[in-house]
Amino acid sequence: MHLPEIALEEALQNGQCALCWLAHRQVLRRVDTLLNEHVTDPQWRQALREGHGFCAHHAHIVLSRANVLSLALIAEDLLSSIPIASPSKRSAATCRCQLCEARAHDTLRSAKLLAQLLNDEQWRTRYEASEGLCLPHLRQVLQVSTGGVHAWLVASETHRWNTLRRHLQEVIRKHDYRFQHEPWGEETSSWRRAFQKLFGVFAEEVPDER
Ligand SMILES: [Zn+2]
Ligand SMILES: [Zn+2]
Repeated sequence: MHLPEIALEEALQNGQCALCWLAHRQVLRRVDTLLNEHVTDPQWRQALREGHGFCAHHAHIVLSRANVLSLALIAEDLLSSIPIASPSKRSAATCRCQLCEARAHDTLRSAKLLAQLLNDEQWRTRYEASEGLCLPHLRQVLQVSTGGVHAWLVASETHRWNTLRRHLQEVIRKHDYRFQHEPWGEETSSWRRAFQKLFGVFAEEVPDER
């Protein structure tokens, strides 16, 4: 197996959505590289200024991993170059987060690889044993899948959705005072799994108790 395939196999084993899991790992790696190697690179700093920095999600990741000097260099650079009042309506929406752009690029590549690998019976078995994909990533893989893989994926995820719905209905039923005494089973945390499935909410960003 080549490196991207090994990474995908690991993602299927560990993620609630393999592509969310992989994208998160890739972003963390990019942030670390960027902070170790690029923070003093004038060209990179110029690109960051032109893009007006990061989106809030990625700014949070940078803030949690960078050292104080890197954060100060990045922030001072941006404060000195971003206009407080945007000169035009069009430029008000010009925050182009380079980590969002990199993530989109990485994820499309992973989606194409997964769509191609799912022609193989072994990879279908690996996928079946995983938690599958969130809806946004599922649609992305479906868009680049051939007929056979497309139909197989839809069937596989339909089965998962039906199971989730059964669990959610059980949670709702057990909130009825007549059934509140019944013990909880595999429906526990199905609301969390459903939100991950629907929206690609990344597991590490949700407090455990939810
Ligand atoms: Zn996902
Ligand atoms: Zn971003």
